[in-house]
Amino acid sequence: MAKQTPISVAYGDGIGPEIMKATLDVIQAAGANIETETVEIGEKVYLRGVETGIEPDVWKSVRRTKVFLKAPITTPQGGGYKSLNVTMRKALGLYANVRPCVSYHPFIRTKHPEMNLVIVRENEEDLYGGIEHRQTDQVYQCLKLITRPGSEKVIRYAFEYARANKHRKVTCFVKDNIMKLTDGLFHKVFDEIAAEYPDIENETWIVDIGAAKLADRPENFDIIVMPNLYGDILSDVAAQIAGSVGLAGSANIGDLCAMFEAIHGSAPRHAGQNVANPSGLLLAAVMMLSHIGQSKVSMLVYNAWLRTIEDGIHTYDVFNEGISTRKVGTSEFAEAVISRLGELPKTLKPVSYEASESIHPWQIDTNRRRAGKSLVGVDVFLDWEKGSPDDLGTALSKVSNGPLRLRVITNRGIKVWPNGLPETFCTDHWRCRFTGDEGEIVQPGQVVELLRRVIVAGFDNIKTENLYLFDGKPGFSAVHG
Ligand code: NAD
Repeated sequence: MAKQTPISVAYGDGIGPEIMKATLDVIQAAGANIETETVEIGEKVYLRGVETGIEPDVWKSVRRTKVFLKAPITTPQGGGYKSLNVTMRKALGLYANVRPCVSYHPFIRTKHPEMNLVIVRENEEDLYGGIEHRQTDQVYQCLKLITRPGSEKVIRYAFEYARANKHRKVTCFVKDNIMKLTDGLFHKVFDEIAAEYPDIENETWIVDIGAAKLADRPENFDIIVMPNLYGDILSDVAAQIAGSVGLAGSANIGDLCAMFEAIHGSAPRHAGQNVANPSGLLLAAVMMLSHIGQSKVSMLVYNAWLRTIEDGIHTYDVFNEGISTRKVGTSEFAEAVISRLGELPKTLKPVSYEASESIHPWQIDTNRRRAGKSLVGVDVFLDWEKGSPDDLGTALSKVSNGPLRLRVITNRGIKVWPNGLPETFCTDHWRCRFTGDEGEIVQPGQVVELLRRVIVAGFDNIKTENLYLFDGKPGFSAVHG
């Protein structure tokens, strides 16, 4: 017998232990050649005072096995607890979250019988950095970070996944009509990488109309890749309109390890009653088996699961009078799948991974030339509430240093000085842009001296952003208004 593949397993909280037991029973009955190593994460660990909810030996185990099957966990109520999922994804470099959303019509009720798509969500960046600040009495900010390597990794993964699994199209969702630099970068990298895959169709939609089309005609999509926040929201929408969030599994893929989980939570109200649907975690385990090269077992489990669903053997959450034949609990559902191992669905399409290839490893381009960078100004942010925008413009115009002169003031991104409109609502948070003449280079010391003068003049400077040209192109947004 081939050597067993070690996997780390966390039973989680709430319904977690029941659905994990059901999942392991099914895959082991199907012949999964795995050696499980149990680790503890979640509520009990949080309540022991570990703020991440993760004991240190979890990292040791996952580093050794490189594969983690994780049941949902409960985040205790109240502040101070870090999101375990966000910590796991970032600490382990799990950059791509892959969520297949498939309809099982007519056995699971859905308005979209033809739906069969995969959402590939960027998993580490965007607004999920947890870098938030309160800057004034009225204004709070959250930093949105999109990076070239992060975008490259997830987008290339989406195309490689498409090629390996014989998908025809990859769609990108962004909001780069508004966020021209951050989402603009994601779009640009998508176009660059798409050009390397001429065998796969590609398209880009602005996320709002894209989301509307996804909700209306999901059958028109195949693989959709998107930044973290849009992916977080739309993968739940897609899973729900396919039939139920309770049926979807997901893979979190990194260069060194991968984590597999259901997309739903720990449903604490249903814990310990043997009623929960184990399908989301079981389908995550199906993805895990393919990932560790046990595609035959993976197919065996998926086809037996499809047959069980087709036979109308359903847990309460997907039970439908007229469609379902038997309402079962968690363990009975697992037994029903086990008794169908080796059978194929009759109406639903059986899965076959025979034609699938493994995803080719690749390296991101670390030899890229760094762009030439020159400092041309500074945005000085102030907490100020002593008058009108013109009052601020007049007072601040007196402060300058060398080539750095006040050019424009905005409030929430809208120009209010010079020549603002009286109708524009202003908060206590002002961005004051100082630059030299068109494209004139300034020195860092001149910025520091300017800030000293701003503070000496009595202003409350809450932060600054330097303004750079990269290869002669502005690395900052233009001012509207
Ligand atoms: P939830 O997904 O746990 O439950 C919402 C509802 O969906 C449940 O009340 C139940 O009716 C139904 N449901 C979910 N999974 C089901 C299943 N397998 N079988 C049958 N019915 C199911 O979401 P929630 O109530 O918002 O969160 C509960 C806890 O789970 C919270 O502590 C939250 O932080 C945590 N959570 C964890 C994860 C994770 O570990 N990946 C993800 C989401 C939420």
